[in-house]
Amino acid sequence: MTARLLIVGPQGSGKGTQGVRIAQAFLVPAISTGDVFRANISEGTELGRQVQAIIEAGNLVPDALTSEVVRDRLAQDDAAAGFLLDGYPRNLAQVADLDAFLDARGETLDAVIELDVAREESIARLTKRAEEQGRTDDTADVIAHRLSIYESETAPILGVYRERGIVDAIDGVGTLDEITERILVALIARGLSPEA
Ligand code: ADP
Repeated sequence: MTARLLIVGPQGSGKGTQGVRIAQAFLVPAISTGDVFRANISEGTELGRQVQAIIEAGNLVPDALTSEVVRDRLAQDDAAAGFLLDGYPRNLAQVADLDAFLDARGETLDAVIELDVAREESIARLTKRAEEQGRTDDTADVIAHRLSIYESETAPILGVYRERGIVDAIDGVGTLDEITERILVALIARGLSPEA
Protein backbone atom coordinates (compact mmCIF):
# COMPACT_ATOMS: atom_id res chain seq x y z
CA MET A 1 0.00 0.00 0.00
CA THR A 2 1.11 3.57 -0.37
CA ALA A 3 2.69 5.28 2.59
CA ARG A 4 3.85 8.86 2.68
CA LEU A 5 5.94 9.26 5.78
CA LEU A 6 8.27 11.69 7.48
CA ILE A 7 10.78 10.86 10.18
CA VAL A 8 11.81 13.74 12.42
CA GLY A 9 14.26 13.72 15.30
CA PRO A 10 17.35 15.46 16.58
CA GLN A 11 20.81 14.70 15.28
CA GLY A 12 21.90 11.38 16.76
CA SER A 13 18.34 10.15 17.28
CA GLY A 14 18.93 7.33 14.80
CA LYS A 15 16.39 8.68 12.31
CA GLY A 16 18.57 7.81 9.32
CA THR A 17 18.88 4.16 10.34
CA GLN A 18 15.25 3.79 11.34
CA GLY A 19 14.10 5.68 8.25
CA VAL A 20 15.81 3.14 5.98
CA ARG A 21 14.29 0.22 7.92
CA ILE A 22 10.75 1.65 7.84
CA ALA A 23 11.04 2.52 4.15
CA GLN A 24 12.11 -1.07 3.42
CA ALA A 25 9.14 -2.42 5.35
CA PHE A 26 6.76 -0.31 3.24
CA LEU A 27 8.68 -0.81 -0.04
CA VAL A 28 9.06 2.94 -0.53
CA PRO A 29 12.25 4.94 -1.12
CA ALA A 30 13.96 6.54 1.90
CA ILE A 31 14.90 10.04 0.83
CA SER A 32 17.46 11.78 3.05
CA THR A 33 18.30 15.35 2.06
CA GLY A 34 21.56 15.08 4.04
CA ASP A 35 22.54 11.98 2.01
CA VAL A 36 21.66 13.71 -1.27
CA PHE A 37 23.81 16.69 -0.33
CA ARG A 38 26.73 14.52 0.84
CA ALA A 39 26.60 12.48 -2.38
CA ASN A 40 26.73 15.70 -4.42
CA ILE A 41 29.67 16.96 -2.38
CA SER A 42 31.64 13.76 -2.90
CA GLU A 43 30.81 13.72 -6.62
CA GLY A 44 31.86 17.36 -6.92
CA THR A 45 28.65 18.50 -8.62
CA GLU A 46 27.56 22.14 -8.88
CA LEU A 47 25.02 21.53 -6.09
CA GLY A 48 27.75 19.94 -3.98
CA ARG A 49 29.96 22.99 -4.42
CA GLN A 50 27.08 25.27 -3.43
CA VAL A 51 26.29 23.45 -0.19
CA GLN A 52 29.64 22.17 1.09
CA ALA A 53 30.65 25.12 3.28
CA ILE A 54 27.11 25.50 4.65
CA ILE A 55 26.97 21.86 5.72
CA GLU A 56 30.43 21.88 7.22
CA ALA A 57 29.38 24.86 9.36
CA GLY A 58 26.23 23.01 10.47
CA ASN A 59 23.90 25.61 8.97
CA LEU A 60 20.78 24.90 6.93
CA VAL A 61 21.03 24.91 3.16
CA PRO A 62 18.71 27.64 1.79
CA ASP A 63 15.09 26.54 1.59
CA ALA A 64 14.69 27.21 -2.13
CA LEU A 65 17.63 24.97 -3.00
CA THR A 66 16.62 22.21 -0.59
CA SER A 67 12.98 22.21 -1.64
CA GLU A 68 13.97 22.04 -5.31
CA VAL A 69 16.07 18.95 -4.59
CA VAL A 70 13.13 17.31 -2.83
CA ARG A 71 10.60 18.28 -5.50
CA ASP A 72 12.82 16.75 -8.20
CA ARG A 73 13.35 13.60 -6.17
CA LEU A 74 9.63 13.17 -5.44
CA ALA A 75 8.94 13.49 -9.17
CA GLN A 76 10.87 10.28 -9.88
CA ASP A 77 8.83 7.18 -10.61
CA ASP A 78 9.81 5.25 -7.50
CA ALA A 79 8.24 7.91 -5.26
CA ALA A 80 4.84 7.71 -6.96
CA ALA A 81 3.57 5.05 -4.58
CA GLY A 82 4.97 6.65 -1.47
CA PHE A 83 8.16 7.74 0.23
CA LEU A 84 9.82 8.27 3.56
CA LEU A 85 11.47 11.66 3.94
CA ASP A 86 14.35 11.95 6.42
CA GLY A 87 15.69 15.41 7.27
CA TYR A 88 13.07 17.35 5.31
CA PRO A 89 11.12 19.45 6.06
CA ARG A 90 13.41 21.05 8.61
CA ASN A 91 11.65 24.36 9.24
CA LEU A 92 8.20 25.91 8.76
CA ALA A 93 9.00 27.31 5.30
CA GLN A 94 9.88 23.80 4.10
CA VAL A 95 6.63 22.47 5.60
CA ALA A 96 4.77 24.96 3.38
CA ASP A 97 6.84 23.94 0.32
CA LEU A 98 6.15 20.25 0.91
CA ASP A 99 2.43 20.93 1.40
CA ALA A 100 2.41 22.74 -1.94
CA PHE A 101 4.18 19.87 -3.78
CA LEU A 102 1.84 17.29 -2.31
CA ASP A 103 -1.29 19.40 -2.90
CA ALA A 104 -0.36 19.69 -6.56
CA ARG A 105 -0.26 15.89 -6.72
CA GLY A 106 -3.49 15.46 -4.73
CA GLU A 107 -1.56 13.75 -1.95
CA THR A 108 -1.24 14.14 1.82
CA LEU A 109 1.14 12.80 4.43
CA ASP A 110 0.01 9.67 6.25
CA ALA A 111 2.20 9.91 9.33
CA VAL A 112 5.08 11.79 10.92
CA ILE A 113 7.36 9.68 13.11
CA GLU A 114 8.87 11.77 15.91
CA LEU A 115 11.92 10.00 17.30
CA ASP A 116 12.60 11.19 20.83
CA VAL A 117 16.00 11.10 22.51
CA ALA A 118 17.38 13.37 25.22
CA ARG A 119 19.99 15.96 24.25
CA GLU A 120 22.74 14.27 26.32
CA GLU A 121 22.06 10.94 24.59
CA SER A 122 22.19 12.65 21.14
CA ILE A 123 25.52 14.26 21.94
CA ALA A 124 26.97 10.97 23.23
CA ARG A 125 25.89 9.12 20.06
CA LEU A 126 27.17 11.84 17.72
CA THR A 127 30.52 11.98 19.46
CA LYS A 128 30.84 8.21 18.99
CA ARG A 129 29.80 8.49 15.33
CA ALA A 130 32.41 11.23 14.84
CA GLU A 131 35.11 8.78 15.94
CA GLU A 132 33.76 5.99 13.72
CA GLN A 133 32.76 7.83 10.51
CA GLY A 134 34.69 11.09 10.60
CA ARG A 135 31.85 13.18 9.16
CA THR A 136 33.18 16.71 8.79
CA ASP A 137 30.12 18.21 10.52
CA ASP A 138 30.47 15.96 13.60
CA THR A 139 32.88 18.12 15.59
CA ALA A 140 31.78 19.17 19.10
CA ASP A 141 31.08 22.79 18.15
CA VAL A 142 29.20 21.96 14.98
CA ILE A 143 27.18 19.24 16.75
CA ALA A 144 26.06 21.75 19.38
CA HIS A 145 25.17 24.25 16.64
CA ARG A 146 23.14 21.69 14.67
CA LEU A 147 21.25 20.65 17.81
CA SER A 148 20.40 24.26 18.60
CA ILE A 149 19.07 24.76 15.06
CA TYR A 150 17.03 21.57 15.51
CA GLU A 151 15.50 22.94 18.68
CA SER A 152 14.76 26.42 17.34
CA GLU A 153 13.77 25.68 13.72
CA THR A 154 12.91 22.01 13.32
CA ALA A 155 11.11 21.08 16.55
CA PRO A 156 8.35 23.67 15.80
CA ILE A 157 7.30 21.77 12.65
CA LEU A 158 6.02 19.01 14.93
CA GLY A 159 3.41 21.41 16.31
CA VAL A 160 1.98 21.90 12.82
CA TYR A 161 1.77 18.17 12.17
CA ARG A 162 0.42 17.47 15.69
CA GLU A 163 -2.49 19.77 14.92
CA ARG A 164 -3.19 17.60 11.89
CA GLY A 165 -3.22 14.54 14.16
CA ILE A 166 -0.55 12.68 12.21
CA VAL A 167 2.37 12.58 14.66
CA ASP A 168 3.48 9.37 16.39
CA ALA A 169 6.03 10.10 19.14
CA ILE A 170 8.38 7.16 19.56
CA ASP A 171 10.91 6.58 22.33
CA GLY A 172 14.25 6.46 20.51
CA VAL A 173 16.16 4.72 23.30
CA GLY A 174 16.50 0.95 23.01
CA THR A 175 17.91 -1.57 20.56
CA LEU A 176 17.53 -0.89 16.82
CA ASP A 177 15.00 -3.72 16.55
CA GLU A 178 12.96 -2.51 19.51
CA ILE A 179 12.71 0.98 18.05
CA THR A 180 11.77 -0.30 14.58
CA GLU A 181 9.07 -2.43 16.19
CA ARG A 182 7.68 0.55 18.13
CA ILE A 183 7.45 2.59 14.94
CA LEU A 184 5.78 -0.21 12.99
CA VAL A 185 3.24 -0.79 15.78
CA ALA A 186 2.34 2.92 15.72
CA LEU A 187 2.00 3.00 11.92
CA ILE A 188 -0.09 -0.18 11.86
CA ALA A 189 -2.36 1.37 14.51
CA ARG A 190 -2.94 4.16 11.97
CA GLY A 191 -4.10 1.63 9.42
CA LEU A 192 -0.87 1.60 7.42
CA SER A 193 0.36 -1.88 6.58
CA PRO A 194 3.96 -2.77 5.85
CA GLU A 195 4.53 -5.05 2.90
CA ALA A 196 7.40 -7.05 4.30
P1 ADP B 1 21.88 15.62 10.83
O1 ADP B 1 20.45 15.26 11.10
O2 ADP B 1 22.85 14.88 11.69
O3 ADP B 1 22.13 17.09 10.81
P2 ADP B 1 21.53 15.26 7.96
O4 ADP B 1 22.21 14.24 7.13
O5 ADP B 1 20.06 15.17 8.09
O6 ADP B 1 22.25 15.12 9.39
O7 ADP B 1 21.91 16.73 7.45
C1 ADP B 1 23.24 17.15 7.31
C2 ADP B 1 23.27 18.60 6.88
O8 ADP B 1 22.67 18.74 5.58
C3 ADP B 1 22.52 19.59 7.76
O9 ADP B 1 23.26 20.02 8.89
C4 ADP B 1 22.23 20.72 6.77
O10 ADP B 1 23.39 21.51 6.56
C5 ADP B 1 21.95 19.96 5.48
N1 ADP B 1 20.51 19.66 5.33
C6 ADP B 1 19.95 18.42 5.33
N2 ADP B 1 18.61 18.50 5.18
C7 ADP B 1 18.32 19.83 5.08
C8 ADP B 1 17.12 20.57 4.94
N3 ADP B 1 15.92 19.98 4.87
N4 ADP B 1 17.22 21.92 4.87
C9 ADP B 1 18.38 22.54 4.94
N5 ADP B 1 19.56 21.92 5.10
C10 ADP B 1 19.54 20.57 5.18
